[in-house]
Parts: sequence; C-alpha cells; structure tokens
Amino acid sequence: MSLVNANSERTAVLFLAQGRVLRQLRYSEFEAVLDHVGAMGEFSSSQAQAVFIEIDGSLRVVAAVFFILEFDTRGYPDPQWNLPLQLLASQAQPGPDMGAGPIRLATRSRCPVSWHRDQLWDPPLTGSANPFETIAQLVLENRLGMSRCDPPAKGRTQLAADVEQSRYGVGLSDSATALRREERVRLARRLRAARGKVARLRIDQEKQLVELHSRHRRQLLELEQAVASLQLQLGDEQRVSSQLKQSLDAQAEHFSRMRNLISQQISTLENGGQLGQQLGEEFNVRLDAATAELQEQLERKDVELFYQDGEIKCLGEKVAHLEQQKVELEKKLAGSDFLHELSDAGVSFVAVQPGAGEFRVPLEDIPAYLESPLDYAARYCYVDIQHYRAWLEHNRKPVCQEASGNGKLCGLPVHRCGSPATFEPGESDRCSQHKASSLTLRQVMQSRGA
Ligand SMILES: [Zn+2]
Repeated sequence: MSLVNANSERTAVLFLAQGRVLRQLRYSEFEAVLDHVGAMGEFSSSQAQAVFIEIDGSLRVVAAVFFILEFDTRGYPDPQWNLPLQLLASQAQPGPDMGAGPIRLATRSRCPVSWHRDQLWDPPLTGSANPFETIAQLVLENRLGMSRCDPPAKGRTQLAADVEQSRYGVGLSDSATALRREERVRLARRLRAARGKVARLRIDQEKQLVELHSRHRRQLLELEQAVASLQLQLGDEQRVSSQLKQSLDAQAEHFSRMRNLISQQISTLENGGQLGQQLGEEFNVRLDAATAELQEQLERKDVELFYQDGEIKCLGEKVAHLEQQKVELEKKLAGSDFLHELSDAGVSFVAVQPGAGEFRVPLEDIPAYLESPLDYAARYCYVDIQHYRAWLEHNRKPVCQEASGNGKLCGLPVHRCGSPATFEPGESDRCSQHKASSLTLRQVMQSRGA
C-alpha cells in the first residue's frame, strides 16, 4: 500500500453542532455521501458545519479544515460543492496543539486560499463549545476503526542496526520483538486493504442500489402514466357511449310520438266530414254573436252623440240670449228715459277723479264711465292708462322709485307732481341723484373728461 493511500486512510470528516459531534465518517464514506450514494436526512434543508481532519499513526489530529456543506430537502449534499480539503489542510497555518504539536488549521478567518474562505467557518477557540478537545477525545476513541501504527519508523538505519544486532547475537528476544512488529505491520496493511475493498464494494453496491431504485421509479412513473392515459381513454369512451345512448333514447321517443300523431291524424281523417261541419256551425254562431254585440255598441254611441249635439245647441242658444239681454240692457241704460228726463231738467253728471279734478260726463258717455272710471279719467287727462296708474302711485306716495341692486327702492322723498300730463316716469318720480337727465349729464361729463 502506498504512503498516500495510507494517509487518506487516516482522514475523516466530522459533522458538528454547538460543540458536539453529530456524525463521523471516514473520508471514503464522505466521498460516497458527496456522490449521493446515501442521504443524511438529519441535515435536510440545512447548512451543516463540518471539519475535515488528518490523523497520525498514534491517533492524534495533525490538520483540521472547518468547512460548511449545504443539504437539500431530501438530505443530499449540494452537488456543486467542490472544496479541495486536502490542499487546504496541506497549506494551512499553525493552530492549537492537539497532542502532536500545533496542528495545521484552516478556518474562515485563517483560510490559505482567499476565494474559498466563504465555504469555511470559525469554530470557537475557547469556552464550553470549544470543539478541539471533543474532536481529540473522539479520535482517540477511534470509533471509525482507523489504522494505528507506531511513531514514525526509525528508517532503514534502525532496521539495519537491528539486523546487525541479531547478526552479532545481541539478544534473541529483540529479534522476536522485531519479527512480531513486522508481522503486525503486515497484518495491519492487509487489514487496511481489506477494509478499503469492503468500503469500495459497499459504495459500488449502494450505487447499484440507487440506480436500481431510480430505474424502478422511472418504470413506476411510466406505468402510472400509462394507467392514467388508459383511464382517460376509458372516460372518453364512456362519455361517447353515454351520448350515443341518450341520442338513441331521444330518437326512440321521437318515433313513438310520431307514431301516436300519425294514428291521431288517421282517426281525425276518418271522422273528418262530421267534425268539419260541427266546427263551421260553431264558427257561424260565434260570428253572429260578436256582430250583434258590436252593432249594439254602435247604436248606443249614436244615441249619446245625438244627446250631446242637443246640449251643445241648447247652450249656444242660451249664450246668444244672454248677449242679446246685455245689449238691450246697455241700450236701455244709454237711452234711459229717466236719465234723459234728468238731463232735460238741467241736471249735469259731474265726476271727481285724482289729477282730473271735477269734470262733466256727457249723457252718452255714462255707460263708458260706468264701465271703467279710471280709463275714462286717463282719457280725460290725455294720457294712457299705464301712465295714469304710475302717476296715481306717485301722487299717493311721492318717493324715488329707483331700484338698487338688491331689489330695494331708493325711497328718498321727491317733489309731488300735481298733474298726470306733466308727470314724466323716470324723471318726476326720481330723486336728484337718480333722475334720468342727471345720469345722462354725468355720462356726458365723464366722456368729455376722458
Ligand atoms: Zn333716488
């Protein structure tokens, strides 16, 4: 067995948590884990803290690399993980003494290759969680069954000395001891070789097992897919069959209805003559009844119209009669003998109205005066009725009629104009400020000033 193999036989990987070791693997077993030969379910979906250690023949730690490793949900490590642990261990800086002098130590803060530092972690160097003592103790317990050999051989010089000693008969017991030692070393080598073979076989077997599992999974998946596809087909065919059945049922029902209908038509045709006659008679009876009813309604409407015409005619006659009476009354009044007698006897009719004062009303104007004394007075004053009414209002209460913005009147007292004829709306009924003439003057002045 080569020296390299002997060294790799004395390397291991320990998984830690809070200063305790959860799992320890020989390096070959760790490689099998990296190859996904087996899963580590206890670390699923987590980032594990681990340490790679190199051990000497006396089971003392000589190098340690503290690294981290991610696991997926099924407990398999990150397949991209590829940290050169042996290289880091060989180039690491001196660390604490774990029995064989200062070890070579690689951690995040003491990483010999700067771009790998993120994949390392810093273990606590003091306190109860200090993992170095725990690791040293575990390695001494040797649960991994590491090969143990004596301290580095003295080399050929010592062996030659031993041979020389035996040649010169320097004690048989020494020679026997040397032989036993040689035998032990030989046995240890065979044992290591056998263990290595067993480990390789185990890894091969686990690989085969994984392949077998994966093949079975694939086959199972294919079978499941085939079953699903068949179930789909079956469903489709059941649907088609059900639709066909429904269609057949519907057709059967349709034929049955058709048959009944045809039977009925045949029997109708057989009784055809008699039925036609019956229907004709019934139709004529109904038609006669409807015609008679409509005729009756029409006659009623005619009677109503006749009465309405009579009423209208009667009312028209009444109106004409009343108008006639009115004309006659007016004539009687105008040509009343009594009034003529009074006039003939020298009586004059004198009226008094504001603004017009006392005035005589001729006999023929009496009806017009009686009809509207105000109109008559306005005519008498030579103004129209609106003008006369405005003057009456001014005469009653002589104040300024100018309406301001908020709808209220100015209301300042103004000079009372005594005659409707001289009264000028907008001038006579305005205060000095609101007279139309003063406004115009102001506008003229303003336009000149501008
Ligand atoms: Zn005013």
